[in-house]
Order: sequence, then structure tokens, then C-alpha cells
Amino acid sequence: MMQYRTLGRTGLRVSEIALGCEGLVLQDDAFAEGLFRAALDAGVNCMDLYSPNPDVQRRVGKAIRAQRADFILQGHLCAIWQDGQYKATRDPQEVETAFEAMLRNLDTPYVDIGMIHYVDSPALWRQIAEGPVMAYARAQQAAGRIRYLGASSHNPEAALAAAESGLIDVLMFSVNPCYDLLPGDEDCENLWRADSYAGTLSNMDPAREKLYETCQRLGVGITVMKAFGGGDLLDGRLSPAGKALTPVQCIHYALTRPAVACVMAGARSVDELRSSLAYEGATDDERDYAAAFAGFPRIRWEGHCMYCGHCAPCPKGIDVATVTKFLNLARAQGMVPETVREHYAALAHHAGACVSCGACEKRCPFHVPAVENMRQAAALFGD
Ligand code: SF4
Ligand code: SF4
Repeated sequence: MMQYRTLGRTGLRVSEIALGCEGLVLQDDAFAEGLFRAALDAGVNCMDLYSPNPDVQRRVGKAIRAQRADFILQGHLCAIWQDGQYKATRDPQEVETAFEAMLRNLDTPYVDIGMIHYVDSPALWRQIAEGPVMAYARAQQAAGRIRYLGASSHNPEAALAAAESGLIDVLMFSVNPCYDLLPGDEDCENLWRADSYAGTLSNMDPAREKLYETCQRLGVGITVMKAFGGGDLLDGRLSPAGKALTPVQCIHYALTRPAVACVMAGARSVDELRSSLAYEGATDDERDYAAAFAGFPRIRWEGHCMYCGHCAPCPKGIDVATVTKFLNLARAQGMVPETVREHYAALAHHAGACVSCGACEKRCPFHVPAVENMRQAAALFGD
């Protein structure tokens, strides 16, 4: 049975397993209806909606309409839809236009959590906190169109500054057992030796440890993104740990960090959703990740695509995240599966159109060699 947790000082009660929205992209209405039916039947009462894609927003609005008052919707400010693509912005007029469009598409007068999207440096946080974006967000909150404010980030220093500011009640943060070992901007190569993982997690990046503990102390509730590292942690060939974890182990890891209230589990199928929902009925042995950690070979996270989409927009319209996902799927299987070939063919723009401008790489928080990936995808898929 689904368990519910209090989301920090908001007092909101959220299901431990919540929905991410990326699985709804590249899908249709029928898929969304089926996914939501399975989620709602299992007691899911919360979701993250970072996507500014109007089709995705409309599908979500339709799916939760009957239980809107009981459903906790985390919508994002600063993610906009431009020329058919996602784009992060800090322009106040663009932020306002996109927020209005989101409420309209959802057909709802409010979102429960208004996330200021993708704040990945302390300097950017300061700029936002002192500038027009925060002023706009607070005005929307005062008008009852946002119940609680939050920020999403992959960077522990930026997230800590946001949490300590008193301006946000919720933090959306990337939490998984590999990423948590990354030492921010320090070179902690030695901390990634296999024998470091026998027993405890005492060598977790201190900045991340401090972040989680500070959030717990201040009552800033954490909603988790990238609990599966974009799916890579579930595949021994792709996992930066060199060993696969199960969805249940990843979820348990995230839910056992201080301040964490729920995991926003992405699902590209009802079966994938069910593999996350299985957490609720899992035994202690199934949840136990410590034994798996002890067997981890040397790990490295940098350079692995999380499929986060922050590299958009591309001047050639290439959806770099999706192309990379198809490329990795093919690499993992050592061949191009027919379904992957079909999905790739259906993309509006193919990797072969890449002009190597490098804009995507500059925006990638994980230093993924996106240009080289586009070159390899074009060669592999022949376009
Ligand atoms: S390097 Fe290629 S994929 Fe990346 S932004 Fe430029 S054209 Fe697009
Ligand atoms: S290339 Fe980088 S920014 Fe783009 S989806 Fe992958 S991890 Fe995210």
C-alpha cells in the first residue's frame, strides 16, 4: 500500500512514489491515460511537470482533473516552449507567458509547487533571488496561483543557497548513489575506489550531505529527480558504478536521504511505472542497496547522459537527449533494435543535421560529449 510523507514545512502529504513527466513526451493521449490510471489506482498523488510541451501539459491536466483538489502538482517556472523545443529562460516576460500558458493548458487555476527551474550555480541563484523572476513567483503565490515555491537544481552549492535563503519551501534535487559521490568541483578521484564502498557511505560528497541535512533542519522538503540516473543505474553496462541497481534499491536510497519526501519516477511504459510502484511492497532485502554498493567497481559519473534535456535548444532542432538515449540503447544491446530504429526515424530532426556548433555541450551539466554522440548516432542510424 502506498505510503505518504510530509513534504517539509509545506505540510503537504505526498506519495513516496510520484510521477516524472518525461515519459509522456513522444507519446499520445491514450498512453497518458493508461499511465495515469495505473498511477492513480496505486495511490500516486503527486507529479513533477517540468516540461513546457503544451501537449504534455494538456494530457496531465486532463488526467488529474477529476481529483485536482487532492493531487499535488509541481510545475516549473523558467522552462518555456519555443519553436517546438524546450528552453530554459530567465527573461521575466518569457517566464510570465509560459506560466500563463501552463495554467491554461492544464486547465487549473493554480499549481501546488512553483519550481524555479534548473538553478545550477550559486551566482544564478543570487540573480534569481534578487531579481524579477522571484518577484513574479512571489506575486503569483500571493495571488493564490502558486501554493508553495521551490527550486530545482543539480548543484549542491546552489541548492544550499536556495534552501538557506528562506525563499523556497521545496527543493527538487538529483539524488542517486552514484551522483551523490561526486565531489562538486573538487577532484576526489581517490574517493571512488571500490573498497571505499564496503560498509558505509561515509565518503558521500560533503556538500551534498550538508545540503540534505540542512534541508531536513530547515523544513525544506526534497522531491527527487534522476533517482535512476536517467536509467543508466539500472543497466550494468551503462551504470557509472559498473554494476546495475534495481529501481527499488535506487528509490530506497533516495528515500533514505534526509528531507526527501518522494521520488519523481520517470516511466516510459506502465511496466516501468509498476517497477517503481513495486517499492511499496518490497521486502527489506529487496530494498537493501548496501550489499550492492560493496561490490561496486570504480565509478565515474561525469560524461554520462542523464537525459535531462538541458542541452536544448539546438539550432538544427535536434533533440539531443532523445537521440543520445536511442544511441545508448543501441550501444547497450550491441545492435540497433527495430523499435529503436523506428523511434529514431520518427524524430523530426536527425543527428546527421548536426553542424558541431557545440552549444549543447556548453549547456550540459554533466559534460557529456554531445557533438561526438551526434556524430556516432548519425553513423549508427545512417542519418
Ligand atoms: S552541436 Fe549539433 S546537436 Fe549540439 S546544438 Fe550544435 S547542431 Fe545541435
Ligand atoms: S547531453 Fe547533457 S544536457 Fe543533454 S540530455 Fe544528456 S546530460 Fe542532459
